[in-house]
Parts: sequence; C-alpha cells; structure tokens
Amino acid sequence: MTLTPPFAQVIVDIAHADVDKVFTYAIPQGMALQIGMRVEVPFGYQEKEGYILGFASSCDLAPDKIRDIKATLEDYPAILPPLVELAREMSRNAHCPLAETLRLMIPAQLRRGRISIKYEKVAQLLLSGDSLQAARAAQTRSAKRRLLIDLMADGAVHPLSELGLLVRSPLEPLKKLEEMGVIRLFEREVLRSPYPDAPIKVEDPILTPGQEEVLSEIIPALQDGQGSFLLHGVTGSGKTEVYIRAVRETLAKGKCAIVLVPEIVLTPQMVGWFRGRFSDDAAVLHSRLSAGERYDEWRRIRLGQAKVVIGARSAVFAPVSHLGLIIVDEEHESSYVSDRVPAYDAREIAKSRARREGATVLLASATPSILSFAKARRGDYTLLEMPDRVNGMSMPEVTIVDMRKELRLGNKGMFSMELLSRLDQCMALGQQAMLFINRRGYAPSVVCRMCGHTLGCSLCDVSLTYHAWDGQMHCHYCGQKTPLPGSCPECSSSYLRSVGVGTQKVEEEVVKRYPDIPVVRLDHDTTNLKDAHRDLINRFRSGQARIMIGTQMIAKGLDFPKVTLVGAILADLSLNLPDYRSPERSFQLLTQVAGRAGRADMPGQVVIQTYQPEHYAIIAAASQDYRKFFNTEFDRRRRDLYPPFTMLARMLCQSKDEKTAREMSSAIYQKVDALLQLNPVMKKRVLFYREDVSPIKKIMGRSRAQVFLKLLVHPDSEAVLAALQEMTKESWPGEVALEINPASMA
Ligand code: ADP
Ligand code: ZN
Ligand code: ZN
Repeated sequence: MTLTPPFAQVIVDIAHADVDKVFTYAIPQGMALQIGMRVEVPFGYQEKEGYILGFASSCDLAPDKIRDIKATLEDYPAILPPLVELAREMSRNAHCPLAETLRLMIPAQLRRGRISIKYEKVAQLLLSGDSLQAARAAQTRSAKRRLLIDLMADGAVHPLSELGLLVRSPLEPLKKLEEMGVIRLFEREVLRSPYPDAPIKVEDPILTPGQEEVLSEIIPALQDGQGSFLLHGVTGSGKTEVYIRAVRETLAKGKCAIVLVPEIVLTPQMVGWFRGRFSDDAAVLHSRLSAGERYDEWRRIRLGQAKVVIGARSAVFAPVSHLGLIIVDEEHESSYVSDRVPAYDAREIAKSRARREGATVLLASATPSILSFAKARRGDYTLLEMPDRVNGMSMPEVTIVDMRKELRLGNKGMFSMELLSRLDQCMALGQQAMLFINRRGYAPSVVCRMCGHTLGCSLCDVSLTYHAWDGQMHCHYCGQKTPLPGSCPECSSSYLRSVGVGTQKVEEEVVKRYPDIPVVRLDHDTTNLKDAHRDLINRFRSGQARIMIGTQMIAKGLDFPKVTLVGAILADLSLNLPDYRSPERSFQLLTQVAGRAGRADMPGQVVIQTYQPEHYAIIAAASQDYRKFFNTEFDRRRRDLYPPFTMLARMLCQSKDEKTAREMSSAIYQKVDALLQLNPVMKKRVLFYREDVSPIKKIMGRSRAQVFLKLLVHPDSEAVLAALQEMTKESWPGEVALEINPASMA
C-alpha cells in the first residue's frame, strides 16, 4: 500500500508529559481537514479524540505503521488557528502538555461527546410558484393541509412547535405532504438560550466630557487594531458606557469584542446593559450556565452569530474570529488569575491574543492593580483617566470609626454609634443602605470557654464557621458540615460559644433593630441557587428591600441609585491576612464598597469601622485617593522587595500523609540548595529560599508543605524557575507544583 501525502499532525487529547508529542496519521480519501479541527483517531488499542495541528508532505514512519484518522468530530475547526497558536505558547510558558492548554479553548463538555445537541422538528416547502399552487389546489380533501401550505408560503423553515400553535396535531398532515413531495420534514439544531427575558431596548445617553475624551483616544486605536490602555475611572464615572461605545465601534468595523468581568460582577445588571444595547449580538459565558447553555453560547460565538462576548476569566479564550477589542473590567480582581494547571493570567492572555490577532486591549478599574498601574507609568499601557463621577456627583463622604474607642466607651456591639445613627437617619428618610462584611456565615469560629479549644475541620487546618440557618458548622475550604457538638471534644465542658461576626449575625442584628424593614443578604450561601442572585438584587433595586447585607459580592459593579449609606462593619478582615497584597486588596475592596454610595442624585455617606484607623490603606480608601495609595504602596514594595520588584515562587508539596509532604519539601529544599551552590550566577538572583509549612497546613485532607523563594526580576531568575519546573516533573510520592507569584498564599 502506498500512502499519499499530505499527512495530518495530531495532538491526542491525553494530558500527560509522555504523550505530549505530535502523532502523524493518514487522511482517508475525501476527508476535508483544517487546522484546529477535532478528530477521532486510533491510539494504541483505543479510540481517542485529538486535534489537527498541521499537515506534512512526508512521513518517516513505515507505511504499515501509519494509521488513518477515523472521523471528524465537527465539520468546522473547534479551535481557531490563532487559538491553536495561543495554546502552543501557553504550553511552552507553563511547561505543560499541549493537550492541557488546548482544552482551555473548548467547553469541557465538548470533549468525549458529553454534550447533547438539542434538535427540533421543522418543515419547509419544496415547491413554489405555479407548482405550489397546483399542489395546494390538489389538497381538496384536507383544509388542514391547505392551511399548512399557506402558513409556510414564505418558503422559510418552520418549527413544528410553531405550526402546532395554529394547526392542531400538524404531524400527520405534514407527513402526508412530505409523501406528496410538497414539503420536506427534517430536524435542525436549536440553541438553548440562557436569557429568561427578551432584551429591553435602551437609549444611548449623551456622553460626559470624560467619556468623550477617553473614547477619542480609544477609537483611533481600534481603527488600527492595536493599542493597550489602562483606564483609571473612579467609581460611578461611567466606565460601562465607555465599554459599550468602544464595542459598538468595533462591531461597526465588522469585528468582534470580548468583555471580561469578574464572575461576581456578572450580575444580571451588566448582562442586561449589554443585551439592552446589543440584543442577540451578545453572548454570555459564566459558571451558572447549564452545560447545554454554555455549549450553545459557545457555538453561537464560534459560528459568528454572537459578536460580543461577556464572560468571566475563561471567556478570554472565546472562539471569536476577527477579534477587534478585549476589555477587562475591574482589572485588579485576583479572579483573573487561575492557579489551576495550566495556570494563567487572563490579562496577559488578553494582551497576547490582541497582539496576535490585531486587537486593542482596554483594562479598566477604579482601583487598578499596583502591577498594572506601574506598567502604565512605564509606558506599557496608555493611561486614561476619568476622575469625575457622571453628572458632577461628588464622591461620597467617608468617616473612619475607631472601634477601640467604641469599646472603651462601653459599646461591645458590632455597630458603632456613628453607623447606627446614620442608619437610623437613612431609614427614616426612606433611603437605602448597604452593609458590607467580608465574611459569610454567622460566626467564624466556635471556641470552648473552659479550655480555649477552637473547633476545626477534620480535613482542613482551619476553624469551622457557625451557620445559623442550619445550626451546623461549615468548613469554608472543603464544604464539609458538622453539627454543633453538645460539649467540647477536648475537655467535655458544655461552654461552647461562637465568636466573631459574619453576614448572618449582621443580618440578625439588623432585623432585631429594624423589624419592619425588609432586608436582603447577598453572600455565597444565599446565591448558589440558579436565579437567587438576580432575585435578591431585583428585590433591592425595586425598593422592596431597603438594607442589603453582603460580602465582597456587593462591593463591585452594582449600581443602585437610592443607596445613600454604606457601612463597612469590619474593615480589618482583609488587612490581617498573611499576604503582601493585603493592603492593596483592602484598599481596593473599601474603595469599591464606598463607591456604591451616592451614585445618583442624592449624596452618599460611608462609615468604615476598623481597629487600625491609622493604617495607610484605610486612610487612602477613606479619601478615595488612588495616587496616594499607589505611591505609598509602591515605595513599600520597593523597600521590602515585593513584586513587581521581585518574584515570589513556591514549590507546593501535597500529600494525604503529613510526613510525606514534609519529606518532599525537605528533598526539594536540598535540591534547590544544591542547584544554587553549583550555579553562582543563579544564586546571585535568589534573595532567599526556605522550607516552610504552608500557612494552611491541610486542605481537604491533603497536607501541605512548601519551599518558598524570593527572586530578583532578572533573566537569570527565569533559569531558576525553569529548573524548579523540571523538578516538579520528577517522580514524587505526592503532588509537587510550582507557583509563581500565586494569587493565593494559603
Ligand atoms: P462605573 O462602572 O465607572 O462605576 P457605571 O458605568 O456603573 O460607573 O455608571 C454609573 C452610572 O452612571 C450608571 O447608572 C450609568 O447608567 C450612568 N451613566 C453612565 N454614563 C452616563 C451618561 N453619559 N449620561 C448619563 N448617565 C450615565
Ligand atoms: Zn474545652
Ligand atoms: Zn474542611
């Protein structure tokens, strides 16, 4: 047998370093293939899915060794060529198998045929003109068949469900018509829609001078398909309208746009705004979609039916062709970084795609990340600013309350006098308030008053949070629930007591104080049902509820015109985490929460309660002074050698067995030590390295130990990181992973 070129180069969908190479297959007669198509191939004794990566005109395998591609899985490339290139680049950078990065480019359910395509029965006329008239006239025995012909006279494809609304039981007469050759009956794919309501048309507002100015810089860049911008616009400056106009400009040029928003900001509100302006041109990708909906949205995008994609982090891989613009809203959000293998930062991917596909990038935030703002100062981004709120509204007035003083004055409650009196006033005036605390549950720990023992999770090294609604203790890491024991497991005393404050306790206090005022609570516990999030927000928006209590879920993106008071119950929560980014995160969170107040025609007030009123992050958030915060924080990072001046890396070792985890981290420490002793060039760039327990020693039953390194930003450091990456591939008795500047230090 002689084989005729070309041959197809296929990556088999098995994410294992040993199979991470391209295999060559023969192409059967008549099979049309393109790069990025998914195919079924024989692999060993099995059938596997694979991706077409390229073609070759020769093959050095013996003809009897080379096998045929069995079938194509779709008749179009599921992965567009630029996304194949992106996957290659990611696999190189993250040192992980290509099959793994290719998987990011398609909905998970597409693999291994786990998706069910929904079909509907449809009918269409085959005849027209005189022959149709003749066929109609021939239906003397059935008025139903004549009516059906009339209904389909426009020649379009008509779903049977639609015909059934006008003609009872249309199937029999239609079958008859089909037999007569008048129509054809067939099935076609239906796309499931995740939108319960039709889009509401929205009129364009007149742009503010700030919006005009910013757009006058962005629009010429769209023309040229280049440019990267960082937009610093204060809360309520009208960033969304800038996105909408920039997207519209992109569509007018025949190109597509991707708008990334943090998952929790994917509120019905944001989606509503975009659907209102772009109606069915907009597609939405988020984690609450069912598998079918997600697949169908993906298909609409891939087939060019939707031209604007709004989605969370992974939407950066959306299969749009003719990409013209990528927007990253709330760009400072840590949720843009995925720590799961293959790790990526959606902002970096956005830049890489934009470069490759000739598109513009727009990052935007009221509180840009220190890293992005530093890059803008260096000239990597063009900095755009909108320092004023829409319609000349002033920024809210912020008061910092020192909770230590409250305690000294004998107030042991969670509300300061200041916050209470303002809340009273706000309620008396019929306005709305938001109370923010970044902790869900009733109380973050349960402690024995006799022996001081704190009840912890059996699988994780964290304390259990008491939840009032089910009377159980929940682990916020693994989700395990345990009933509250009658007595202390350590000393058997019955003096167990919950300490600290979470959203449920705040709710309880509020309800006690304002029994007649309806309250909504927005946190992970109240919003995990499919539409709960939207319903709660609508109850507040319509004015049915007057106080909203919530976690960081309420801090971002929401725009409620009637909110005049915002209270941060305990601002210190995010400040005390053992992470060099705590001040940055606290500043961002507080500035964002404060920004929920006074967004329309009534001025806003904000009360920040804290035990550290002198902390620079709190003071800067209170004055909503981004520059001041940036300068202080940037100097601190330079002085204390934190990113972006250094890189942090850790080799995280995990095992079911604590001893194994420790042994792995010791062995890795030895290896790192030996490596650096041997390579003085590398050693010069490593500020320190040490073996550590992880801040959380156990999560979901897996013990964690680590080797932690701080490196200077320098090409020689890359060599160190590459060597560490190689170490992870050795055979270990547990899991070893390299994390560079991880989003979470836990
Ligand atoms: P940001 O995201 O910057 O905090 P938003 O985009 O939520 O601000 O806008 C704040 C409010 O101002 C919204 O209610 C929005 O509808 C309104 N708005 C934005 N631009 C205009 C404009 N040009 N004219 C009138 N209202 C506007
Ligand atoms: Zn005890
Ligand atoms: Zn747990």
